[in-house]
Amino acid sequence: MENNEILEEIVLPERIGFLGSRSYDTVNGKIVKTTRLIFCDNCGCRLDENKLIVLCKICGKKLCSSHSCTFEYQRKHYCEEHIQQILPLTAHGFEILHCVLAELEPGKVRELANISNDDYREALNELLELGYVKEKGVSLFKTYKVLDRGILAWKTYLNAYVMQGDVAHFLQKSTEDSGVNGCLERF
Ligand SMILES: [Zn+2]
Ligand SMILES: [Zn+2]
Repeated sequence: MENNEILEEIVLPERIGFLGSRSYDTVNGKIVKTTRLIFCDNCGCRLDENKLIVLCKICGKKLCSSHSCTFEYQRKHYCEEHIQQILPLTAHGFEILHCVLAELEPGKVRELANISNDDYREALNELLELGYVKEKGVSLFKTYKVLDRGILAWKTYLNAYVMQGDVAHFLQKSTEDSGVNGCLERF
């Protein structure tokens, strides 16, 4: 198609799952060229076609390299929705894992993250059911240990949750409390 035949050119955002496209239509005898540019299907930022573009392994969404858009797990990339299906972890669950890994009592989360007793219980039970933590001992002597899958989940979400205001605030407070740089260096 010769450029001089094109009377109108339209630029639109590309649809989810498509990697950019160009099409030509004839409208009222005029040739209309439509170019679709690619954007991150999660946050909407413009993607550079010449750079590495990541696609969610399950839904095919195009993702930018931001830690809140792309999650890497077992060398595959996922969008947030699908990593949450494969390896679920809420912000409160992440905070509890972080406390246990930093050798703080998990109940500290209530104070450090300012969450209710019910929210704490719910998040802790979820971690137990998912096999991320294990209870040891009984009653007052009960302690918790993070299992391998819990460490994997904590690592997978670390960069994303660090960017979330309330979790960032929690991390800062937990570092002050544990007197060490948390557990970032250890894992
Ligand atoms: Zn993005
Ligand atoms: Zn997906």
